[in-house]
Amino acid sequence: MGKIGGFLEYDRKDSIDISPKQRICNFAEFHLPINEEERKKQASRCMDCGVPFCQFGQEIAGMSSGCPLHNMIPEWNDLLYRGNYDEALKRLLLTNPFPEFTSRVCPAPCEKACTCSLHGDAVTICENEKFLIEYGFDREIIKAKQASKRSGKKIAIVGSGPSGLATAWQLNRRGHEVTVYERSDRAGGLLMYGIPNMKLDKEYVNRRIALMEEEGITFVLSTSIDTPEAADKLKSEYDAVVLAVGASKPRDLQVANREATGIHFAVDYLQAATKHVLDANDTEPTIDANNKHVLVIGGGDTGNDCVGTAIRQHCASVMQLEMMPELPSTRQENNPWPEWPKVKKTDYGQEEAIAVFGKDPRVYEATVKEFVKNEAGEVCQAIIVDVAWQLDENKRMQPVHVADSERVVDCDLVFIAAGFVGVENNVCTAFMLDQTERGVLATTDGTATAIDGVFVTGDAKRGQSLVVWAMQEGKNTARAVDTYLMGYSNL
Ligand SMILES: Cc1cc2nc3c(=O)[nH]c(=O)nc-3n(C[C@H](O)[C@H](O)[C@H](O)COP(=O)(O)OP(=O)(O)OC[C@H]3O[C@@H](n4cnc5c(N)ncnc54)[C@H](O)[C@@H]3O)c2cc1C
Ligand code: SF4
Ligand code: SF4
Repeated sequence: MGKIGGFLEYDRKDSIDISPKQRICNFAEFHLPINEEERKKQASRCMDCGVPFCQFGQEIAGMSSGCPLHNMIPEWNDLLYRGNYDEALKRLLLTNPFPEFTSRVCPAPCEKACTCSLHGDAVTICENEKFLIEYGFDREIIKAKQASKRSGKKIAIVGSGPSGLATAWQLNRRGHEVTVYERSDRAGGLLMYGIPNMKLDKEYVNRRIALMEEEGITFVLSTSIDTPEAADKLKSEYDAVVLAVGASKPRDLQVANREATGIHFAVDYLQAATKHVLDANDTEPTIDANNKHVLVIGGGDTGNDCVGTAIRQHCASVMQLEMMPELPSTRQENNPWPEWPKVKKTDYGQEEAIAVFGKDPRVYEATVKEFVKNEAGEVCQAIIVDVAWQLDENKRMQPVHVADSERVVDCDLVFIAAGFVGVENNVCTAFMLDQTERGVLATTDGTATAIDGVFVTGDAKRGQSLVVWAMQEGKNTARAVDTYLMGYSNL
């Protein structure tokens, strides 16, 4: 078990971030790793708890607690502390197919449930994971592995986000022939065209896709499976079809002048920005915040990604509206460990806005009541209003506009980051599948749909979530598909 008393001897030490003013000069990742000796000390802080909540991976009060992949965290922390990196990596890879993604973008529910965080700072689980996987790639321990035997079964996966990739990876290693269909020009789903490059450099997504291709998985890009004909073709040509199409239907705003030009959904903006970074041409991005007054509607992580991206594109100003009240800085009594802590987080984009413009871009308990457009039909202002939360007749909290709180803000670029309402309709129609009231694809038994041989995974099944949950979903779906095809599964 790590170092006896390690957590008493050593304080938590995180990777060092490049300062906000420096890192906004480009779209590169900005966490600088600590040295190897320090990393071992950090791993030694793990107490190898008898009941390790860090790997519990369940939802408590609707929020994640512990690692959804059930990573064997105390085991690899101990091996890492002892310098046995190869064994530590092996333990990590037993449960996590793509640690290079989770260790960069996971909000680390493991750390929120770590026993050390009860009275102090959690173990640096996420960064320990990153050290191990990059050690594996640097030493070429991670390499393509061919299935020892092929089953002769063919599987089509629609969508190449983390759930589709995890499903494909598992089923291919089991010996099935896997083809992934993706409507975008690059594979990776929101790992590629959602999460910005400064959080997850696309080099790491491409590195994994190349490895999967080497292992025998076929990626068919720029191909949308969204008509009944395309769906029927897949169903007749493959032994099983997995829908890993995400839940990317954005929640819209029903306000006057919503149709004005300059108002975009957040993911369209983030996709355009990443495409511009990757295509490395001299033209401007199709949506460009340069010199614009930017208004971001939505105070969550996607909104924060828009703030960080707009700042890198040299916006003139940025404001972020959040409907909910500002959270407290510490856990409240009704939100005990190991629940997800409902505390205020100042994320990288907001830190950068503070550094550049001198103030936090967030305005709490406020929303847009109406947009104003100019003669050319372009958005030029927004009328914003305060909201108060009141119980309705069904005892549910509902936002109501506060009388006489309207004010006008100038804006010539607006990003709507107000969440997602489920799977896009064309996929449901193409496969003739029902949606639940949450807008996701209905299943009959875990991951199986009402149509024989058609399965669903990831956000398309559970709604917008996290990369780590999408990967866990992918693993579960792979097992269900394998059982369907072979009568049993050893996955
Ligand atoms: C802006 C943003 C930032 C995020 N940041 C984080 C983060 O930092 N950390 C984190 O853990 N989670 C984050 N998330 C959530 C996370 O990205 C998702 O939960 C996860 O990607 C879901 O994986 P998925 O495979 O189910 O779907 P997706 O990643 O959405 O992939 C679905 C894929 O299916 C393709 N597709 C859809 N329909 C079709 C069709 N008809 N034919 C062919 N292809 C199709 C899409 O093009 C897409 O590539 C973020 C989400 C957003 C929107
Ligand atoms: S995948 Fe996420 S939750 Fe699991 S150990 Fe890694 S950082 Fe923690
Ligand atoms: S809860 Fe924290 S201290 Fe305990 S085993 Fe997990 S990582 Fe180690």
